[in-house]
Amino acid sequence: MPLTDIRARIDAAARAAGRDPDDIALVAVSKKQPEARIAAVLEEGHRLFGENRVQEAAGRWPGFREDFDGVQVHLIGPLQTNKARQAMELFEAIHSVDRPKLARTLARLADETGACPDLFVQVNTGEEPQKAGVLPADADGFVSECRGLDLPLVGLMCIPPADAPPAPHFAMLAQIAARNGLPGLSMGMSADYETAIAHGATHVRVGSAIFGAREG
Ligand SMILES: *Cc1c(COP(=O)(O)O)cnc(C)c1O
Repeated sequence: MPLTDIRARIDAAARAAGRDPDDIALVAVSKKQPEARIAAVLEEGHRLFGENRVQEAAGRWPGFREDFDGVQVHLIGPLQTNKARQAMELFEAIHSVDRPKLARTLARLADETGACPDLFVQVNTGEEPQKAGVLPADADGFVSECRGLDLPLVGLMCIPPADAPPAPHFAMLAQIAARNGLPGLSMGMSADYETAIAHGATHVRVGSAIFGAREG
């Protein structure tokens, strides 16, 4: 679907929910997409992208940043602590902070470098064993731990179970964010971003609907 159509749907979903469309950022998820397709979306004027692997992002975004002004790339996939330094250099935001060891590593590097991307805590709202994220019951404690480390925490992120209606998961994430005073909600993908917007999403992560099916 053309980017302009997606943006129009986002704007309509925002208005239907009584929200300002400008409060919703479209993160174009470019993981596993050919560079020519990404370049086409950049040519259209889009500047905010999401990647789920540090390595893949490191291979392509420094070059795109030379060719296009104002590019922002967010990490939406799991982050190993040994890649934290590289991730802090590559990304304007990290949506997948999900454990104390990673939080401590980010805090140490932030102290050392004097800079840190915006951070989202990932919550495993479906309590799925194979999925990253803190359990809902541990979210408040982990948020205060991150704040105690002076990390620039801006919001929460979730990936609902693939086989369940997403709305209750979006509602749960919004509730945890509200009681912790966090403004950001990274939720909603190609299949459910309009539902996520109805529940307060501030960042929707849309891949295949923009770029088509992924390679590999
Ligand atoms: C791949 C991915 C997306 C985008 O998924 P689509 O269904 O292609 O829109 C969003 N969020 C995360 C965390 C992803 O890994």
